[in-house]
Order: sequence, then structure tokens, then C-alpha cells
Amino acid sequence: MQEYVADAIVLRKDPSGDLNGRYTLFTKQFGKVVGRATSSRKITSKLAPHLEPGILSKIRFVEAKGIQLIDALKSARIEVALNDLHLLSQLIPEAEPEPALWELLTGSTFNWTTSLGILGWDPEHAECAACGERQPRYFYTTTQEFYCHAHASKARRDAVISIDARL
Ligand SMILES: [Zn+2]
Repeated sequence: MQEYVADAIVLRKDPSGDLNGRYTLFTKQFGKVVGRATSSRKITSKLAPHLEPGILSKIRFVEAKGIQLIDALKSARIEVALNDLHLLSQLIPEAEPEPALWELLTGSTFNWTTSLGILGWDPEHAECAACGERQPRYFYTTTQEFYCHAHASKARRDAVISIDARL
């Protein structure tokens, strides 16, 4: 069974079964990877502290009924808010390396204008999907559309990105 090594940012973790964890990771080498770590929720698990959202870890995984994480070793914490990591987990495509986004997340200047541009949604040339207003300030991850302030107000908070000030 082939084993893979990757540098990974933990974007989110979800419970999966009784004692397992499901992790959404953004890796430098493979782009987004969603994997499981068996028994990771046991208090004795050695992997859990290395797989918290916001942690940068060196991971090892195998492909066996999906991706199984077999080791993780943290090296740093990323300076990106947990809610932003959660939103990113909804937007980054699987199994597609994004070197520019990796640089942005591991550097110290994360912002949504640049991140959305890297991922293919350039806010500079966007319009509100409801009224056509130029330079909308909100992006809705579920429909992947931009909205102005008035039309974004009803969106769920865990799905709407508030775009930062222009650079
Ligand atoms: Zn609008």
C-alpha cells in the first residue's frame, strides 16, 4: 500500500463514527484532502493535538477505503481565523495543488480578496448576483456568488465571506 507524505494545514475536523475523526486538510502537495484518523477522538490519541484546525502539520496517509491518516506532527499554527479556515474548506477543490494559496496561508497576510482571486472568483470584477452592484463585498460559498451588503444580509453566517478592504 502506497504511503504519502504531505505538508498540511488543518481546515476543519468533524466527528465521524464513535471514536473516529474526519479531517479536511489543505496540503501543499495534493491540494485539499479529506481523510479519517481512526480513534483520533480518544483522549489518549497521539494524533489529535496535531490535527486541530489552524495547525500546520507534516502528515502521512494511505489510500484504503478512502484516505486514512496514519501520522501527523505539528510544526506551527497558521495565522488565519478558524471561521475563515472553515469557509476555505468549502471552496478549495480536492486533489488540486494551489501553490499561491499555500504561500498566502503560510505567510502572514491572509485576505479574502487575494484568496478568492486565486481560487477563480475575482472580487474586483464581480457584481452582486441579485442587483448587479459593482464590487460586492460578500461571497456566498454555497452558491459561489457575490452579493452586495443589502442582498447578503440574509445569508447564513457559516456560508458567507465578508471580503476585506481593497488592497
Ligand atoms: Zn445587490
